[in-house]
Amino acid sequence: MAQALYRKWRAQTFAELAGQEPITRTLKNAVAANRTAHAYLFCGPRGTGKTSTGRILAKAINCLHPQAGEPCNQCRVCLAINEGRLIDLIEIDAASNRGIDEIRDLREKVRFAPTEARRKVYIIDEVHMLTEPAFNALLKTLEEPPEHVVFILATTEVHKLPATIVSRCQRFDFRRIRPEAALAKLRQIAAAEGVHADEAALALIVRVSAGSLRDAENLLDQAISRYGATFGASEVADLLGLSSDTRARAVVEAALQRDLVAGLRAIGDAAGSGADLRQFSREIVEVLRRVMLTQAGAGDLIDSGEEEREFAQRMAAVADPEQVVRVLRRFSEVDLRGETAATLPLELALFDAVHTSGTPPSVSDQLQGTWPPVPIAAIESSATAPAPPRHRAAPMRERDRRRRVQERKPVGHYSSRRLVAPE
Ligand SMILES: [Zn+2]
Repeated sequence: MAQALYRKWRAQTFAELAGQEPITRTLKNAVAANRTAHAYLFCGPRGTGKTSTGRILAKAINCLHPQAGEPCNQCRVCLAINEGRLIDLIEIDAASNRGIDEIRDLREKVRFAPTEARRKVYIIDEVHMLTEPAFNALLKTLEEPPEHVVFILATTEVHKLPATIVSRCQRFDFRRIRPEAALAKLRQIAAAEGVHADEAALALIVRVSAGSLRDAENLLDQAISRYGATFGASEVADLLGLSSDTRARAVVEAALQRDLVAGLRAIGDAAGSGADLRQFSREIVEVLRRVMLTQAGAGDLIDSGEEEREFAQRMAAVADPEQVVRVLRRFSEVDLRGETAATLPLELALFDAVHTSGTPPSVSDQLQGTWPPVPIAAIESSATAPAPPRHRAAPMRERDRRRRVQERKPVGHYSSRRLVAPE
């Protein structure tokens, strides 16, 4: 394929931007009323349209024939931006070394008037990655921005930005793309590309993309490259490594049962079969979330097949709700960026899930010797071999400890199952 789908189908007008209506409406109105700001801050998850919005805004501000706040996409300025050759649109990737250099001489260059367009637009992507000196340089510029300059800062991690920067920008929070909006966009692309993918196939792509339209478009791209113009849900599942779903369940079961070996094996299998580990990690989080929802009595919110639902119910019945939340939290922190082949972050999450407990020990627990809790595997293996008496007594005390923890909490159906433990 000559051009990646997400580039080819990148929105060129505010109206085309999927799933960010309140933001695009506000920006369009601001352009139409000639009331744009000097600095914008676009925050939100990756693949939700921040940079695309920045480029459209740059066009709309500079378009020679704007229509109700929308760029015309036909004048020489619009065309130059669409072709990536407008000198007055400066895109800086703050995560790269070059980005730091560019910020360094930003203060000098920012004073020069634009050459082709009315206003110079700086789009600084991943702005939270800037070094402190670079932030200072940027802040100085934001404090007294020249009339002819607009800054668009984009970040996935706004909490890492200095408050002094945030307070000088008009801030927009981009949301994850709703499934319906992503689905509509995929349908549109598929139709225009002459691709016959059934609805279930597209829905599966949307589900695994977790609100990132760029990820969804890339997956559609991969499916087309592999299967051509016709494919269904089972092909997509294959592409994703359908068994990655089974393996994700195996990892979850191992984490909740504190079976390190089984969990490591499942992670190793997934990596060995060439599964996309980032995707695999999302699957694990999704499986855990289903268990949590089921335990909370909100199983109806689960958007998945019968098999997944049954698994969630089985795990919900045996796992401690607090443990589920703790393991879920730990796996959702796994960061696999830049490590396409490395399983280490997942293994560490599994290790933490198996070896630590989120409930702080009470003094009486420590006196009774039930802290730290003994892993189930250790209890089982110690049942056959002669073991210290403390291990044999552990299962009973562990249950008592959990009951005490449960009784301290407000009673609701969330934990009621655990309360009726038989004596
Ligand atoms: Zn134009």
